[in-house]
This record gives sequence, structure tokens and C-alpha cells, in this order.
Amino acid sequence: MLRDRKGRIARKLRVSVTDRCNFACLFCMPGEDKISWIPKEDILSFAEIERMVRVLASLGIQKVRITGGEPLLRRDLEELVHGLTSIDGIRSVDMTTNGWHLERKAEALRRAGLRGVTVSLHSLRSDRFAKISGVDALPKVLRGIDRALDAGLKPVKINSVAIRGYNDDEILNLIEYARERRISIRFIEFMPLDGLGMWSYDRVVPGKEIVDTVSQAYPLEAQGRGINETSSVWRFKDGRGDLGLITPMSEPFCDDCDRIRLTADGKLLSCLFDIDYHDLRHIVRNGGTEEELGDTILKAVWKKPEGVGYMPWIKDGWAKPRNMNAIGG
Ligand code: SAM
Repeated sequence: MLRDRKGRIARKLRVSVTDRCNFACLFCMPGEDKISWIPKEDILSFAEIERMVRVLASLGIQKVRITGGEPLLRRDLEELVHGLTSIDGIRSVDMTTNGWHLERKAEALRRAGLRGVTVSLHSLRSDRFAKISGVDALPKVLRGIDRALDAGLKPVKINSVAIRGYNDDEILNLIEYARERRISIRFIEFMPLDGLGMWSYDRVVPGKEIVDTVSQAYPLEAQGRGINETSSVWRFKDGRGDLGLITPMSEPFCDDCDRIRLTADGKLLSCLFDIDYHDLRHIVRNGGTEEELGDTILKAVWKKPEGVGYMPWIKDGWAKPRNMNAIGG
């Protein structure tokens, strides 16, 4: 089992398949002058990812979420989905995407075995969407969400990062959009993992504030946060969908975190905020055995930090090791 020294057991894995993205969300990517992409030859092949996931599954990983960067920039991603869903012990494979390629890919992904998809959507105003994401793509992303629903991907969810002064006046509009389609919407607090260095506490919209705003318009019922879940859930009393709040800044949920991450260049990370990267690619590319991979994974998970509040680099002024696009959100 993938147990850490605090007794938490890892069962979920986020696999980043690329650090590249065709969007440039201002809370994620660095400015063009500061981008340093992972060299192409360092990016894992699908076969390498599958080999690592097979070992991880043998140690207890049950659920995989494919992310990036933008995962659908990887050609034939459905082949990876198919490979991962075929691994013994893997119960579900989901994906987080900016939605740009969903219109074209949703059907093939579902056929390959993808369970659900979470689409990032931070504004419903075209001009603002373009300002936040760097691309004038709102209609295409909305068509992608509809296509995912038609294709039968389940669940289809919306992720929204609320940033004070940018889109916090659109919370109710985004909620109405999700309620019309009866899909879940989750607001994530802005984390200091952005490439532009624009993060500050003032820009974080705390989950509690969102509940206060929403409950004035729609009666809500607290469902709480399930064990090992990232979001606390609020049900709309009229039964039309639900609202999730992911609050790593105002109310961290590290005590029962069961997630670990594999970066696009094959580094295992036991915590989103960690700076201790464990190199699995080196083992795979240098003739290492499954036992060596397993040992490294077990040691990496054992050292999982206590949580976001304990990270030395956070106390020392948010000098983060990598931006979100290169970790995998
Ligand atoms: N490209 C895909 C997308 O846009 O969803 C997947 C990768 S993205 C890094 C994964 C998630 O992380 C997205 O929902 C995104 O909004 C969120 N995210 C990125 N930077 C963030 C930050 N600084 N704070 C909070 N969430 C962030």
C-alpha cells in the first residue's frame, strides 16, 4: 500500500501528459518571455506512462485523472486512455481539459473508456474569457461541453477559478449555466502556483464567500466534504445540480489527501505543493526493474509532506518550484 508517515493512503493519481497548453490562463502559465518548456525528449511516451501506472496500480492506485498542460494536445490521447483503463486495479480514468478539442474528441475518448471530464470555464463573457485564457474560444469550449454530455461522458463537471477583480462578479452566471445542464460546478480557490506571479491573498475568493453569495440567490443544503474528496459539496434545494468548493487556501484538506501526481517528464510528486520530485523516468530509461520503480514510489509517498501549511517554501514567500502547467492541476 502507498502509505505515508502520517498514515494517509494514496489511491488517486493525476497524470500530466504535457506541460504545453494552447491557452495561456493568467493564473497558470508564465509569460511568453519566461516559458521554459520541458524538452520534448523528456516527455514520457504513452508506453512509459502505462508502465509506471501499472506499478502504481499494483501498489494501490485505483483512480487516474489525466491532465496537463492541455492533455488533448497529445495526439491520439484515446490510446493512452484505453491503455490505462486496461490496467488491473484501475477503476476509472477521468480527464481535466480546457475543452478546446472536446468537440472533436469526446466520442472517441468515451469509446476508449474515459469515464468523466472536467472542463475549465472561468467566464461566460467572450471578451473576458479571452482575457483570462489568452484565446477567444468561449463558443468552441461551450460546444465541447455539450458534445461531452451528448457522448455520454459521466460526470461532466465545470471547474472555475474565481479571482477577485477578474471574474468574481460572474459566479451566479456560471452557476446558472451549470444548473441549466444539471452538471456540477466547482470553484477552486486561486493557488500561488501561477506563472505570472500575480497571486496574492487579496485575489483569492474564499469558498465561504461564494456560499454566501450563492445562497442569497439559490437555497443551498450543505452535504459536506466526503473523506478523501477535494470539494465540499452544496446541493441546490430544488435538486438542480450541485456546487463544489475546493478551498486549499482558506480550508486546506491535506489531512486525508489521497492523491499523488506524475509529471509529464516522469517525476512523482506526493503533494501539489511539494518540491521533492522523484525521478521515475530515469529508472524506466536506464533499464530499471519494476521492483526499483516500486521502491522509489513507496519511498516518495512515505515522505509526503503534512500539507500546504507546512511547506517551507510557502512560509518563505511562495518561491514555488514549478508553475501549475508543469505540475499538472
Ligand atoms: N488544461 C487543462 C485545463 O485547463 O483544465 C488541465 C490543466 S489545468 C492546470 C487543471 C486545473 O487547474 C484547471 O481547472 C485550472 O483552472 C486549475 N488551475 C490552474 N492554475 C491554477 C491556480 N493557480 N490556482 C487554482 N487552480 C488553478
